[in-house]
Amino acid sequence: MSVKILDKNTIVKQNSDGFTPLIIGDPATIFSARAARLRELAKDSFMADYLLVAGQIVQLQAQLAEDFAAPVAQFVQTHELAWPLTLNSDWFPLLEQMLAQLSTSLRLVASDDIVKIIDAINELDSDTLHHYFTALQHNQSERVPADLAIILFACINTFTSLMVKTTALEWQPEPNVKQHTCPLCGGAPAASMIKGSGHRYLHCSQCEAEWHRLRAECTQCADGENIQLQSETLEDAVRAETCGHCHSYLKILFLEKQPNLDPIADDLATLVLDQKLSQSELYRNGFNPFLLPLMQ
Ligand SMILES: [Zn+2]
Ligand SMILES: [Zn+2]
Repeated sequence: MSVKILDKNTIVKQNSDGFTPLIIGDPATIFSARAARLRELAKDSFMADYLLVAGQIVQLQAQLAEDFAAPVAQFVQTHELAWPLTLNSDWFPLLEQMLAQLSTSLRLVASDDIVKIIDAINELDSDTLHHYFTALQHNQSERVPADLAIILFACINTFTSLMVKTTALEWQPEPNVKQHTCPLCGGAPAASMIKGSGHRYLHCSQCEAEWHRLRAECTQCADGENIQLQSETLEDAVRAETCGHCHSYLKILFLEKQPNLDPIADDLATLVLDQKLSQSELYRNGFNPFLLPLMQ
C-alpha cells in the first residue's frame, strides 16, 4: 500500500494555514459526545429504543477508553506496530479484557435482548472469538453474526482508536492516490464530514481518525462526473453522496449547518435515507456497526 506514515518529529509542515490532512481526536471525548448525540436523536426518532441501546454501548466505550489508555500506551511501547494497523494474536489479551469489562458493565444497564447477546458471546470458544475479532478488524463483518458484532466491534473500535491516539502519527497522501480506507488502520469510512473550513474528511469507523479527501468526487471510485447529493429536504445537514459510476453512496455531514453531528450516530438515525436509496439499487460504501443488525 503506497501510504506515507510519518512520525511527528520527522514530518516537514508544508501548510501554514492550519490545514492538516489527518485529524486524530481523543477517543473518550469522541465516544462521550457520540453517546450524547444518540440520546438526543432518540428523543425524536421512530427508532428511539435502538438509538438508546447504541448510546449505552458507546457510553461504556468512553469509560473503556479512559480505563485502558495506560495499558494500550504500554502495549504500543512494547510492540512493533505495522501500518496500517492489522490485528494479530498480540491484540487478543487486551481485547478480551475490554470485552470482559464492557460485558460486565453493559449487563447492569441493558435490556434482556442485549443480555442474551452478552451470554452468547460468553459461550464462544476462544478460536471463534478470535476469528470474529479478526474478521471485524479486516472489514469482513459478513463473517460475524450481526448482533454479536455490535459488541465485539466496540472493543476493536476502542482499542484501535487508543492505539492511533497514543502513537500520534501524521500522514501525507501520496500524489494521485485516492485513499478510500483509513491510512492508519485500513477501516472503512463511516461518513464524510464537511468541516467549517469547507474541507472534506472521511471519518474512520474503526479508529476514529479523519483523513482528507477532495470534495465532489466519489470516495469509492474517485469518479467526479456522476456525483449527486440526495436528502429528504434541501436543508438537511445529513445527505447521501451518490455515485452513478460505481453505484455506491456515503453519507455526507455538513458540520457548518450543525456542529454536533456525529458520523456514527447521525448515519444510524437517518436510516430512512438508506431505505430510500436501496430502492435505487445503490449500495453503501461506508461502515456503521450499529446498522449491521438492521440491514441483514
Ligand atoms: Zn482508522
Ligand atoms: Zn463511485
